Amino acid sequence: MLSTEKYTGRDIKTILAERGLDGDGELWQKRLEKISTGDVEKALSEPAGTYGVEKLLALVSPAAENYLEEMAQLSHQLTIQRFGRTIRLYAPLYLSNYCTNSCRYCGFNRENKFERTRLTIQQAVREGDIIAFEGFRDILLVSSEDKKFVTIDYLAELARNLRDKFSFISIEVYPIRSAEYAKLFEAGIEGVTLYQETYNRQAYAYYHPSGPKSSYENRLDAPDRIAAAGMREIGLGVLLGLTDWRVETLALAEHAHYLIKRYWQSHVSFSFPRLRPAYEVAGSQFEHLLSDKNLVQMITALRLCFADAGLVLSTRERAQLRDHLVNLGITKLSAGSKTNPGGYSGHSGAIEQFEVDDNRSPAQVATMIKEAGLEPVWKDWDITFVKD
Ligand code: SF4
Repeated sequence: MLSTEKYTGRDIKTILAERGLDGDGELWQKRLEKISTGDVEKALSEPAGTYGVEKLLALVSPAAENYLEEMAQLSHQLTIQRFGRTIRLYAPLYLSNYCTNSCRYCGFNRENKFERTRLTIQQAVREGDIIAFEGFRDILLVSSEDKKFVTIDYLAELARNLRDKFSFISIEVYPIRSAEYAKLFEAGIEGVTLYQETYNRQAYAYYHPSGPKSSYENRLDAPDRIAAAGMREIGLGVLLGLTDWRVETLALAEHAHYLIKRYWQSHVSFSFPRLRPAYEVAGSQFEHLLSDKNLVQMITALRLCFADAGLVLSTRERAQLRDHLVNLGITKLSAGSKTNPGGYSGHSGAIEQFEVDDNRSPAQVATMIKEAGLEPVWKDWDITFVKD
């Protein structure tokens, strides 16, 4: 396990506070309004794929909306240079929808009354078998904060049961200690996705009123712990719709830049979860939902600042938009997703976390990728590459 102690620089909490990116970003909002076309052109003339906060500020500004075509072309070219003409495919496996938190945007909120479901290891392995049968070799284990049932030992045992079938196993669960991440790494889990949801402290407190997730700082520190445990991939993201996406993108990028500088052995990726209607959650209640145009702007702006970052898009988005985005910088797509525990075997009527919009089968998504001139990749990594 790598120690975080040898790094002497400022931590991410300090960096965000100094930059004024852990609040509503009022100063940044004013600066965004003042960005000129000249500023955008200067940002576009800088080497593609390098990060600077001033450059990103220009690329996510309202003024840059008139340069989306140019940003899309540069993003496409850079992605092909770095990743080839490929798109990785993965599937999420939901393990439980019991939750001790009350996130206002989520159908699994502990206040919601519905029959909850948990998968035993055996049931989860059965779901994994179906996912493997569909062709996937990359699986994401997802759970609500159900620490009593989805324990570290549960996740480790499940990973040991799945690793013969999958070449890459990652998790999207509640934040844990570094030693616990290390234990999961030993069991074969090599990636962790953990969205901060929002970097705005006031908004964070509002949307996470109770439960362990109400600690902003425990969540913010977690990617350091993930990297310190030696995980190969760290997935970052914000929930798009909670606050202003432009300021959130600046904070997200600062976080990624901080991690990349400190933990060279971990690969950072970004996801773009736009809020979706869910059980007892109407989409209309979010005033900051961003348009398709702004989603394209965010994706291409991040690509033009982070040449090697994975850019991940889920089935939250509709098919037509996903077809378009595969050629604009995205490197990884989920397909055929079920967002309820037991959803693949069809034996569960469990509530899903959010409504899936792209309901195509994995084979149909793979066909779409080929028709877009790209190659669907079910497996691009094998643990044997790094073992004797
Ligand atoms: S977002 Fe996660 S932690 Fe929050 S209520 Fe939903 S499942 Fe629980």
